Amino acid sequence: MICPRCKKEVPGAAMFCIPCALAASYRGMLEQQLNWIDQVADGAITLVSRRNAQGFHVLMAGENKQAYCGMVLTSGRDVRTTYQALNLGTCKECREAIDALIERSRPKVA
Ligand SMILES: [Zn+2]
Ligand SMILES: [Zn+2]
Repeated sequence: MICPRCKKEVPGAAMFCIPCALAASYRGMLEQQLNWIDQVADGAITLVSRRNAQGFHVLMAGENKQAYCGMVLTSGRDVRTTYQALNLGTCKECREAIDALIERSRPKVA
C-alpha cells in the first residue's frame, strides 16, 4: 500500500503509515495543549522536564511521555519546573513549540 499522505510505500502488512499516524497524533496533541497553554504561560501548571542525552525536553501538560518538540521519552531524569523557570539546557524545539502556542493563544496587541 502507498500512504496517501506522504506517498511512501507502507512496509509489510501495516494498514497505516506509522510515521504519518504519529505525526498526526502529535499535531492533535499540540492542538489540545491550547486548552492549557495560558496556565502554562502563567506558571499555574507545573511542567515536567525530562532529560535525555540532548538535554531537557518539556513534556506536554497532562502527558507522561510526549514532549512539546514531538519527541517521545519513556524514561529519563525528571525535573519539575514552570515555564518561567525552564532550564537553560531545555530543548530549543520544545521551547519554540511552547512559545508558538502561547503566541497563538495570546496574539500580541499592536
Ligand atoms: Zn505516510
Ligand atoms: Zn524537545
